Amino acid sequence: MANIYASAGMWDEVAKTRKTMHERGVVKKPGFSWIEIKRKVHVFLVGDTSHPRSKEIHEFLGELSKRMKEEGYVPDTNFVLHDVEEEQKEQNLSYHSEKLAVALGIIATSPETPIKVFKNLRTCVDCHTAIKFISKIAKRKIIVRDSNRFHCFEDGKCSCGDYW
Ligand code: ZN
Ligand code: ZN
Repeated sequence: MANIYASAGMWDEVAKTRKTMHERGVVKKPGFSWIEIKRKVHVFLVGDTSHPRSKEIHEFLGELSKRMKEEGYVPDTNFVLHDVEEEQKEQNLSYHSEKLAVALGIIATSPETPIKVFKNLRTCVDCHTAIKFISKIAKRKIIVRDSNRFHCFEDGKCSCGDYW
């Protein structure tokens, strides 16, 4: 129900529905992503700034986002429909956990190393679109294993054919 209201832009209704869910004890799972680099696992929550290289990660994402926009990327603010759990509350699309993990993967590994990220929830439409652009701009193969399936991003396309 919350998703139907959200897609129609009825944010007050969404807020009310969420409040009711909360009161009824419906607890949403927090979204997180992780990546293993040189045998060390790095975990990110949405908007996470706790990583030692957080500043670099955010700067890199800022640069990427400029280049993505030049290439025609438009942030998808209707992501609520696909991202049905915790992250839907997050307004700032740039800092979804899978984007943070992908960014670290790119800055912390040598060029051409494939990036492999795992996520405990389904990846949202915006992250999916963004990672397609990132695979092309950074010239990396990016594999995202979300709660539903594998996505293999390469040269601006995903192996799922945008269906997941
Ligand atoms: Zn996302
Ligand atoms: Zn995909």
